Amino acid sequence: MPIAQKIEGFLSSSSWIRRMFEEGEKLRKIYGADKVYDFTLGNPDVEPPESFHRELLEIAGKPVPGMHRYMSNAGYVETRQAIAGVLAEETGKAVTPEHIIMTCGAGGGLNVVLKTLLNPGEEVVVPTPYFVEYRFYADNHGGKIKEVASGNDFQPDLAALDNAIGPQTRVVLINSPNNPTGVVYSAETLAAIGRLLDKKEKELGAPIYLISDEPYAKIVYDGITVPSVFNYIKNSIIVTSHSKDLALPGERIGYIAINPDIQDAPLLFEGFVFCNRTLGFVNAPALIQRLVTPLQRERVDVNEYRAKRDLLYNHLTGLGFDVVKPMGAFYLFPRCPIEDDVEFVRTAQKYNLLLVPGSGFGKRGYFRLSYCMNMQIIRNSLPAFEQLAADYTL
Ligand code: PLP
Repeated sequence: MPIAQKIEGFLSSSSWIRRMFEEGEKLRKIYGADKVYDFTLGNPDVEPPESFHRELLEIAGKPVPGMHRYMSNAGYVETRQAIAGVLAEETGKAVTPEHIIMTCGAGGGLNVVLKTLLNPGEEVVVPTPYFVEYRFYADNHGGKIKEVASGNDFQPDLAALDNAIGPQTRVVLINSPNNPTGVVYSAETLAAIGRLLDKKEKELGAPIYLISDEPYAKIVYDGITVPSVFNYIKNSIIVTSHSKDLALPGERIGYIAINPDIQDAPLLFEGFVFCNRTLGFVNAPALIQRLVTPLQRERVDVNEYRAKRDLLYNHLTGLGFDVVKPMGAFYLFPRCPIEDDVEFVRTAQKYNLLLVPGSGFGKRGYFRLSYCMNMQIIRNSLPAFEQLAADYTL
């Protein structure tokens, strides 16, 4: 066996997105790129804000001795100070650089946090549907995902969460704005989760950490803001990145923020710094840390995403699809007209529409489309959705 059995198993069972991407490559060769409507990948198609390019030129024009060397494994103190300052202002909490660890994206940050917190066999409770990589991240560190069904509106089901949290639970992992549904959890929902975790901690006699994975926190529409978990959940840890809000996914820059209310915050900080080092990340990329330091209040132009959301949402609901209107992120998660989402996605391919089955996110009977793609291609795709809808009685 050339590779580990477990990884071989993951390769064959896991990546719907990858499989659909490969399918897309085949179709593009046959029909041409502009006739294939690939809604599978969450790769931002907007450019970083102008201020990013200005900073890039500024830094490139004035090299400073030592700027490419190793640094503290937590990252530059100036960068962490800039992030802590914004978080302190938003939450009213005493967030300092000792609560911030710079990471290689949110993916790197989640691995660091899970490595630090999980004992073998412990559970990470996740509301469905969820970002599929969580399963592998938990497994990387000897943990297990425990899925909890959400309501039809994709808001968390508090009673189901209550039932799911037990002696093996170490972490509850939420993602708002959510990939794949685009829903945002309200302050009331976060407060209810906070009360539930307090109650469970007392019952079980051990801390349960809430990880809030929030790379889409600034990609929100219709005047919505994402309430901070720091204000509602004591043992909370934010993991985020600039992959989406500054459109820098290839640069691998993100951070972990520890709620100052956590009793053992300094120990968590030490653990995260240690794991950032020993997982081999060592530190987040130096140049990009410097670049994002003054950009903590910036974001991409979300109006472009909103226009795409509106076009697709209106078109799909007009055709009879049942869709929860996304409040943020850049995905739609409509219900399939049949229970078998894999068959539905195969049917969509007849019309050169590439979609991802909901099963890939722990929610059968739905499909995800990612609308971070060229507006003209989205417009061109609309008749294909009409043909697809006509195959079913909606
Ligand atoms: N979490 C969610 C919900 C995501 O959708 C993604 C990327 O698509 C990530 C984490 C990882 O993002 P990053 O590029 O910051 O590692």
